[in-house]
Amino acid sequence: MAELTPMMQQYLDIKAQNPDSILFFRLGDFYEMFNEDAKLVSRELDLTLTTRDRNKPPEERTPMCGVPYHSCEGYIARLIAKGYKVAICEQTEDPALAKGLVDRDIIRVVTPGTVISSSMLEDSKNNYLCAVYADSARYGLCLCDLSTGEVYATAFPAGGENLDHLKNELARFHPAEALLSAGAWEVDGLRDFLKERLDCPCENGGEGRFRPDAARALAEKQFRSGLDGLGAGEEAAVQAAGALLSYLYETQKTDLSHIAHFTYYTTGQFMELDLTARQTLELTATMRGKEKKGSLLWVLDKTRTAMGGRLIRAWMERPLLSPVQISRRQQAVGDLVENSIARQELSAALREVTDLERLIGRVVYGSAGGRDLSALCAGLGKLPHIRQLLSPCPSALLRSLGQQLDDLPQLRELLGRALVDEPPFSVREGGFIRDGFDGEVDRQRNILDHSAELLAQLEADTKEQTGIKNMKIKSNKVFGYYIEVAKSQIDLVPDSWTRKQTTVNAERYISQELKELEHAILSAQDTVTALEYQLFCQLKDQVCRQVAAIQASAAAVAQVDVLNSFATVAADNRYCMPQVDDSDTLTITQGRHPVVEKVLKGTPFVPNDTHMDRGEDRCAIITGPNMAGKSTYMRQVALIVLMAQMGSFVPAQSAHIGVVDRVFTRIGASDDLAAGQSTFMVEMTEVAALLKSATRRSLLILDEIGRGTSTYDGMSIARAVLEYCADPKRLGAKTLFATHYHELTVLEGRIPGVKNYHIAAKKKGADVIFLRKILRGGADQSYGIEVARLAGVPEGVIRRAREILAELEGGQGVHPRPAQAPEEDQFSLAELGSRAVLDRLEQTDVNALSPIQALNLLDELKRML
Ligand code: ADP
Repeated sequence: MAELTPMMQQYLDIKAQNPDSILFFRLGDFYEMFNEDAKLVSRELDLTLTTRDRNKPPEERTPMCGVPYHSCEGYIARLIAKGYKVAICEQTEDPALAKGLVDRDIIRVVTPGTVISSSMLEDSKNNYLCAVYADSARYGLCLCDLSTGEVYATAFPAGGENLDHLKNELARFHPAEALLSAGAWEVDGLRDFLKERLDCPCENGGEGRFRPDAARALAEKQFRSGLDGLGAGEEAAVQAAGALLSYLYETQKTDLSHIAHFTYYTTGQFMELDLTARQTLELTATMRGKEKKGSLLWVLDKTRTAMGGRLIRAWMERPLLSPVQISRRQQAVGDLVENSIARQELSAALREVTDLERLIGRVVYGSAGGRDLSALCAGLGKLPHIRQLLSPCPSALLRSLGQQLDDLPQLRELLGRALVDEPPFSVREGGFIRDGFDGEVDRQRNILDHSAELLAQLEADTKEQTGIKNMKIKSNKVFGYYIEVAKSQIDLVPDSWTRKQTTVNAERYISQELKELEHAILSAQDTVTALEYQLFCQLKDQVCRQVAAIQASAAAVAQVDVLNSFATVAADNRYCMPQVDDSDTLTITQGRHPVVEKVLKGTPFVPNDTHMDRGEDRCAIITGPNMAGKSTYMRQVALIVLMAQMGSFVPAQSAHIGVVDRVFTRIGASDDLAAGQSTFMVEMTEVAALLKSATRRSLLILDEIGRGTSTYDGMSIARAVLEYCADPKRLGAKTLFATHYHELTVLEGRIPGVKNYHIAAKKKGADVIFLRKILRGGADQSYGIEVARLAGVPEGVIRRAREILAELEGGQGVHPRPAQAPEEDQFSLAELGSRAVLDRLEQTDVNALSPIQALNLLDELKRML
């Protein structure tokens, strides 16, 4: 240690206080990293690893790696994206003035959940930091988007199914970083869920931050009245909120007064969706590519502002349950659908509105520049026009949103007067205050701009005062400005001048006036820059005073934008306003799949009807060949319900939708091999979750339950699940159940509420034609071979398959699927057994079997019979 330079000692001290962050240590124009940090960053960012002490033996050298100060953002962004935290350590005194070692300190820790710079954020996505509190009795959750100032919190009892519920809430917000209390850290599977499923880094926040009294004190200070009315039941949410705030204070070290709105919500306010349902219904991203294109959001999002872009996503993640609230949105959308001119004008006006929400966030936070103030001012300037467009609307919601748009004329006038049209990026180099705004700035700029003229003027004045004709003001590097007087006239030089140098023909002097002018010229640049910065801070303070008004306007703009987007999509795609109420009905006439109808090329989408209720039509068993459109149909129903509860119009001729509390999906073989689970295990886990948590008011979408195991097992599980779902004494939820097991169609008439449907297809020669129409009754054929042919399986194999099928149908007593329910409700065990054998044989590649494996297989087959 004795050999360390003082600077290295300073580095190590600061690093010791921030062991879990990468320390960016400011040295001149670079941020340097040392030791393990240097190795890690050079590896992660592909930067050269160097050292400061080349003269030492290699093992004693300190590894080092650096990034330029002016382009550090990109490097930080890449580290954050990889889940690291970066502590920025700056020089906190002017190196020119420092005696000895320059003071340095951490000015901020950048973490995935606390990014604020626009280059690291997606405009149309919130970026949440979350804190989770858990003890044996309660869960508490708090989420905050530092860039917009939004805060949400909730609390509910702990344990059992509520752990699923906690996970669902986390999936809803999809946080970028999570701070867990010691209790939450130990909750079984929670960390894995965050890390593996949501790709969200977790940190053990310890118990201290979450202590009720300390947490409440912090939260009350930050949110003032926001916590009124929260009692003991909600204390866990307050604990999470306090912990989150303490983490923010610790890492951000700056003003956070824009985080003022604390929204406590109860889970009964929104439709609940688990991560599986969100993903399989492809709400905001496709399953495969994880892209927005091809998702429901892709169809519905015609928002024009960044704020609207974030809100439409949030509405999709939080569909409503209250018909009254839904209807308020619907009326607004309806108004705009009716009035195409208002809609288009609104679209055009909204397009011009800047991201007021994040701009005000940056201003308060202290990272805004002149450009941000200017953008804020420009955005506010568009509000009066939008207000004007909304005022004649019949919808009460639109009119009230219009009234919430405050364009703050005085502030705009001030900013407009103060800032140039296109301010430069940095506020430290001046050049953004408009001429005429501040007398002193003007005077200094005048000096700068006119230094040559001022020198000429001084020269002329001096000549006149002294009578020296033969003199000139010049400058050189050694003395700066001086007056050169020809030897012949030195008698006229006043005593007050100081002689500086003698040359062959002349003497050089400095006068007091020249000294002052020189000083003014040299310091004008610094003075203007400092003055402009001072003015900038004053303007910023003025803006900060309006934070509440600007946030309220931003929130109103976002809503108008989303409602207008719904209207635009509805008008462009012939959607209808669904009737939404608390009934048990789910009736859709001529419904379409909002995404598939957009991506189908050439062929038109075939609309289909749906009728479900909690009486005779609770459960629909849907059969039909592969590729017939079963899965499209079921998703279409779920998406229409979801859209309706968001307040959107729906792709149908008409629809009547009783609100649904949750949508569950079990669709396809969504393989979760990454998490080390088999397909079947995943399927059964999903089924278990669904059966545990579904209620009578839920909508269940079940596709091919039991497919991942043997036919015999699979069909039994499928039937048992179906019985459970349909039985009003047990679940009795509205269920769409697509299956390959045609045998299940016998359940119609046996279990009340179950009805058979199939998606029609017909044979035409060797081909199958999909009619895409959903009809009553079970499917008569599975057309598997025809579909295989369509898919391009070679003709020889198809021929052989037909032969085998004919043999099976002829000899083995394996019947074509019963179209109607047969007399016998029980499956024939013999039939099931022989089908299982056939399935097993079908899956076997004989050429790949060793003799021993073949013997084992024979044994297995025998036992199946
Ligand atoms: P299944 O689940 O029965 O195997 P899918 O629902 O996956 O079938 O549908 C297969 C394809 O058929 C879809 O990708 C889509 O292109 C098309 N399709 C489905 N339903 C319709 C429809 N109603 N109108 C037109 N094309 C449809």
